[in-house]
Amino acid sequence: MRDSPETTPPPDAKARRAAVPVRVYTGEGFPRFDPEFYRKARSGARKIAEVVVPPRDARCFHAPAGHFFRIESVEGPQVGDLNLWNAHDLSERFFSGKTRAIHATHVSTGDRLWSALPYLRPMATITADTLDWYGWDADGAGVHDIIGTRCDPYTNLLLNGSEYHHCCHSNLTRALAQDRKIPLEEAEKHVHDVMNVFMCTGYSRDTHEYFMKASPVRPGDFIEFFAEIDLIGALSACPGGDCGASHSSDMAKCHPLKVEIYRPREGALQGWRSPAPSGYSRSHGV
Ligand SMILES: [Zn+2]
Repeated sequence: MRDSPETTPPPDAKARRAAVPVRVYTGEGFPRFDPEFYRKARSGARKIAEVVVPPRDARCFHAPAGHFFRIESVEGPQVGDLNLWNAHDLSERFFSGKTRAIHATHVSTGDRLWSALPYLRPMATITADTLDWYGWDADGAGVHDIIGTRCDPYTNLLLNGSEYHHCCHSNLTRALAQDRKIPLEEAEKHVHDVMNVFMCTGYSRDTHEYFMKASPVRPGDFIEFFAEIDLIGALSACPGGDCGASHSSDMAKCHPLKVEIYRPREGALQGWRSPAPSGYSRSHGV
């Protein structure tokens, strides 16, 4: 956006600006969040797996449909970059842009993580979030954003003229390559815009530019999800640590993150089914 526009405002500029905002998605037509269902499903669930993500690195985890996965802060404040894929088809992946449009720039309990076109269905539902108290702060920032993309070595090269190999993009690429036993070049194509777990970000009030500030997360905080379909997740413990100062370097203090997978008790999901992919014909009018 230009600081000083070159175009003279039209005589009716004020009236044009005064158009009433219309919320694009009101929640109508989307699957309703039923907290009671998830609460019942979660009570008595048993932990079946645990993955510790080392600082400045990433790990994959597997969350079958109908299971819960919890991302927890351990040892110190740390931001995590999350990717999700359909375990049976990596082309179905998290769609941060549409999720942002449907829910908001930052997500919390009751929001879904939607998959890319042509699938467009909830991949996961957020069922608990110990940082939901944070809300929107005086700078307009919130926690768990889906507006950032992920730190990556390409932007870093552009800015710093040097190579750094532990950006979240590279961490996620290595983790997926290792998990799927596929070459790095193939894995990299599947890495996508993330959900920034625990990250505190916003757009500046004056220029609407992206900013980050130190995450309010502390050890013991967690965010929990219900896997609506069979999922592979990859989580990177960002080299920015709490992202209070910098990323894409070894400067920040970094900590591990923990992912736990929980299986509901027998019969707890009675009547529940994975959402189907979009039923659109894909004829596109032809
Ligand atoms: Zn990062």
